[in-house]
Amino acid sequence: MLTCKFGGSSLSCSANFQKAAAILAADSHRRCVVVSAPGRRNPQDEKLTDLLYACQSAAAQGRGFSALFDRVAGRYLEIAQGLGLRDIGPLLDEARAALRHASPARAASLGERQCAQLMARYLNWPFVDAAEVIRFGPDGALDASATQALLAGRLRSLPCAVLPGFYGAAANGEIFTFSRGGGDITGALAAQAINAEVYENWTDVSGFLMADPKIVQDPRPIERITYAELRELSYIGAQVLHEGTVSPVREKNIPLNIRNTN
Ligand code: ASP
Repeated sequence: MLTCKFGGSSLSCSANFQKAAAILAADSHRRCVVVSAPGRRNPQDEKLTDLLYACQSAAAQGRGFSALFDRVAGRYLEIAQGLGLRDIGPLLDEARAALRHASPARAASLGERQCAQLMARYLNWPFVDAAEVIRFGPDGALDASATQALLAGRLRSLPCAVLPGFYGAAANGEIFTFSRGGGDITGALAAQAINAEVYENWTDVSGFLMADPKIVQDPRPIERITYAELRELSYIGAQVLHEGTVSPVREKNIPLNIRNTN
């Protein structure tokens, strides 16, 4: 089995959901999918995660957030309509209600959670809630061994699964998130739990590049890199992967492949 993680830019709109689904359909080993929340559709656009944090902050200060929430809803509606998914009213109601009293982490988790629910419906695959399988301690640090036991138990019992990235929960149900961009870590944890042949990290660049393509035109990809080099480069700011991605795959010697959804 392969674990495929799709980043926010790969799920920013319904057309990109369709690309992701075609990628999954192209290889029957791609049966464990981890998703980020919908990201930017263009450089001026907003990430859903940022909109959710803004809704939470407005609600916590007793300000209305309906105009902000309309922007959240607009993103979901475009995705649902483009994919032919009906009845997303309950999903929007759940988000609106939760945002009234949510912690920042809970608010942000809705982006991944609902994106995964939409993807699961579109693929007709089971949805696995990260709150049940990604375990954080009461201090907000990942409990790696509990997470591996929970993830392995759940993922190995299913023929395929869609898992939201970025968040998890403590034993008492309190939601915690990784730091920004942490959906990559969830993907690596899932790959570790199922002993994946490969962890495919689908994004909007063709591999680990020698320079930032937003600054340098057509940089060449680095064909192969060791886990240690990858971790170091991510740590000092290479943006393609979260630095916490390396250790779960390194422990099992799982190759990590950075792929371009486009
Ligand atoms: N959605 C989260 C973020 O914007 C996590 C992720 O995309 O990996 O940081």
